Amino acid sequence: SPKVIGLTGGIGSGKTTVARFIEEFGFPVYYSDERAKDIVNENEDLKIKIKEILGEDAYDENGFYNRKFVAEKVFSNTDLLRQLNEIIHPAVRIDFENWVKKQTKYLVFKETALLFELKLHRECYKSVLVTAEDNIRIKRVMDRDGKTYREVQAVMERQMPEKDKIKLADCIIYNNTNLEDLKDHTEKVIFDIE
Ligand code: ATP
Repeated sequence: SPKVIGLTGGIGSGKTTVARFIEEFGFPVYYSDERAKDIVNENEDLKIKIKEILGEDAYDENGFYNRKFVAEKVFSNTDLLRQLNEIIHPAVRIDFENWVKKQTKYLVFKETALLFELKLHRECYKSVLVTAEDNIRIKRVMDRDGKTYREVQAVMERQMPEKDKIKLADCIIYNNTNLEDLKDHTEKVIFDIE
């Protein structure tokens, strides 16, 4: 089976951009956070469990996950949020394991915002961190999402500190300049993994 490389980075670091470059270089990428959003609509066992925790209103009349309702419900209830995560995370893990089985490349990448927070790096062959200076990340997210400086800063402050991630990462891609440099750094890092 292929070696799994964990790919992570905080808000606005550029991890999704790096993931797209990795795909351009021919390696498969599993997007954990995106898959988690699909799984809550696809996996019937998971749907039942989510309704048990959050109530029938977690799904709308067409059977689609009601993201807004769930977000509001767990916002001020950390215990509910923990319970929700405890059922979603294992479902993503199983989905990922099934995906890996279908891959034929010698390296595959798993993009996830919470690689270190959930200690998923321990299950990876290597980890790659994308990072950039705070101000640069904030400005990029302001441009991308139309958020204010303080809004982005608030999200950033709730994430694991960059210095802790840097200590845990096997490889680091610094993304302080332009996209051309980022692509070059990405190429170098992924083809150096052995
Ligand atoms: P999030 O966790 O917030 O989704 P992310 O880590 O996935 O963020 P991206 O979406 O890849 O980050 O990048 C954030 C924004 O910055 C995007 O709009 C992207 O196009 C832009 N960006 C990333 N790197 C660079 C760069 N080197 N030069 C210019 N723009 C960049």
